[in-house]
Amino acid sequence: MIETSNFIKTIVKNDLESGKVEKVITRFPPEPNAYLHIGHARAIINNFEIAKEFNGYTNLRYDDTNPAQEDVEFVEAIERDIRWLGYEPKNIFHGSDYFEKTYEKAVLLIKKGLAYVDDLSQEEISKYRGTLTEPGKNSPYRDRSVEENLRLFEAMRNGEFKEGEKVLRAKIDMASPNMNMRDPVLYRIMYISHHQTKDKWCIYPMYDLAHPLQDAFEGITHSLCSLEYEDHRPLYDWVVEHCETEHKPQQIEFGRLSITNTIMSKRYLRKLVTENHVKGYDDPRMPTLVGLRRRGFTPESIKAFILSTGLSKTNSVVDYAMLEHFLREDLKLKAERRMAVLDPLKVVITNYPEGQIEYLDAENNSENRELGTRKIAFSRNIYIEREDFLPEKPNKHWKRLSKDIEVRLYNAYFIKCTEVFYDENGEITHIHATYDPETKSGSGFNARKPNGTIHFVECSTAVPATFNLFEPLILGDDITPENFIENLNPNSWSVQKGFVEASLAKVKPEERFQFLRNGYYICDNDSTENNLIFNRTVGLKSSFKV
Ligand code: ATP
Ligand code: MG
Repeated sequence: MIETSNFIKTIVKNDLESGKVEKVITRFPPEPNAYLHIGHARAIINNFEIAKEFNGYTNLRYDDTNPAQEDVEFVEAIERDIRWLGYEPKNIFHGSDYFEKTYEKAVLLIKKGLAYVDDLSQEEISKYRGTLTEPGKNSPYRDRSVEENLRLFEAMRNGEFKEGEKVLRAKIDMASPNMNMRDPVLYRIMYISHHQTKDKWCIYPMYDLAHPLQDAFEGITHSLCSLEYEDHRPLYDWVVEHCETEHKPQQIEFGRLSITNTIMSKRYLRKLVTENHVKGYDDPRMPTLVGLRRRGFTPESIKAFILSTGLSKTNSVVDYAMLEHFLREDLKLKAERRMAVLDPLKVVITNYPEGQIEYLDAENNSENRELGTRKIAFSRNIYIEREDFLPEKPNKHWKRLSKDIEVRLYNAYFIKCTEVFYDENGEITHIHATYDPETKSGSGFNARKPNGTIHFVECSTAVPATFNLFEPLILGDDITPENFIENLNPNSWSVQKGFVEASLAKVKPEERFQFLRNGYYICDNDSTENNLIFNRTVGLKSSFKV
C-alpha cells in the first residue's frame, strides 16, 4: 500500500504528542438516504486508516436526524459497503440514539438564554437573515423569557403546534459576517415517522446542533468532514462550548473527491435510478460502491486509489483512468487468466483427426507461477475471435491470422489458414486451417516464427457465455447537474454472446479473471451455471501514467 502523509495525520500526531487527546476516535457519518459512492470512499478510508494508524478506532454513525428520505434499505447497504471495503466499525450508532440527550442540551441552551422559540415562518426567517453584505434583523420573538421558551419548547415536543408554526433557534448574532451564526434554527417540527424512533418525536434537531453533540457524546476526537462544512465550524464550536459537553471534538475539513466524466452526488444518482437510465444502484456503470463492485473493482484497488489521491484542503478532480490503473495493478498478479471468445469464428483444422480431443497444460498466470496450471482442450474444431482473422494480410503490422499465414495459438500449436468460406452475403462463415504437431506449446520449437499469437476456445467443450461491455455512462468533458441526462451515452452498455473455455463452467458470481488479450472480467451476480454472464471490468491497456 502506498504510504501517504496528509495534513490531518499531522494534526492527529501533534494532538497525541501534546496530550490533547489520549486516543484517536473518528466516525463516518453517512445520511442513510442513498447508496455510498466512490466519493464517500475517501471519507470512509481516511477515517478508518487515520484512526488505525494511531491505534484508535472509528464508529459508524447514521446521520438520521432528518426522517424525510431515510430508509432501512440504505442502512443495510451502507454497512455492507463499508465491510466490503475491509473495515469494521467499532460501534454502530444512530444520530437518533441521542434525541433525548440532544433535547436536554437544547433545554440547557434555553436556560442559559442562548436559545429561543421563534414564531416566524421559514420565509420570514430567511428574510430577516439579511445578506452577505447586510446584517440581519432580530426576530420579534427573540427576547422571550427563559420560562416562556421552556414552556413553548416542551409544547413543541408534545405536538401542540403545527409543522412550521414554531422553531427553536440559537441566540447568537444577527449581524455576524458568517450567515450560519445568525441565529440558526436548532429544532423544527415534523410530523414524520422516523425509521428508528417511529412516532416518538415530532421535533427533530438540525444537523448543526445534532452533529457536534453526537461527536461529543461519542468522544470523537477528530471529526472529519468535507469542505462545504468549513463555514459551519464556528457554529460547531459554539455548540460544543455552550452545551458544556464532557468531550470537546474538533472538526477538520478536507477537499471532496470528484472523478472525470462522473456524476457523484446522491441526488443525481437517484435520478439515474428512478428515471430508469440505469438498472439500479448496483448497475456496473454507476460510481456507487455497489456498482463498482458489480463492475469488478476490488476493495484493495479502491483503497490504493483513494490513498494515492491524498487528502488536501481543496476539492479535487481525478482522472477516471487513474482508478482503472490501480485496478489493473491489483489484478495483474491476482487474477487467473483464461481464454474467452466474444465474437466467435469457427476454424476447422483439417489435418487434425476427427473425434480426437487432447488436453494441454496452460499456466493460470504467466506472471505469477504460484497460481498454478490447468488443462485446456484442443481438437479439430475451435473458435477464434472474428477480429483476429482477415482473409488477406493487410500490412506488416497485422500480427494475426490470414490466408496462408501462420499464427501461434496460446498454449497449443501453430495453425495456418488454408481456405475461407462465405455465405451468400459475402460474410465469412468459417475457415479451414492446418496445424503443425511439431509446434506444440512447451516443446521448445523455434524453427520458424509465427505471425503473432491469438487465443481460442475448443468447440465441443466451450461454454456459451454472455459478455457485458461498458463505455462511460456520460459523455463530454463538461458534465453538470443540468446537462448530464442529455449527455448520457447510448452505447454505455453492449452485449456480446460468445464462449469461454471449459474450466469456467462452474464459475461463481464475483470471481474475477483476465481474459487473454482482452481485459479483466467479473462473473455477474445474475450468472448461473446454465447462463454464464461476465462483466468487463476494464481493458488491458491503460493510457494513464503515474
Ligand atoms: P452527496 O453530496 O454526494 O449527496 P453527502 O455529502 O450529502 O453526499 P453524506 O451521507 O452526508 O453524503 O456523506 C457522509 C460523509 O461522506 C460526509 O462526511 C461527507 O463529507 C463525505 N463525502 C461525501 N461525498 C464525498 C466526496 N465526493 N468526497 C469526499 N467526501 C465525501
Ligand atoms: Mg450530506
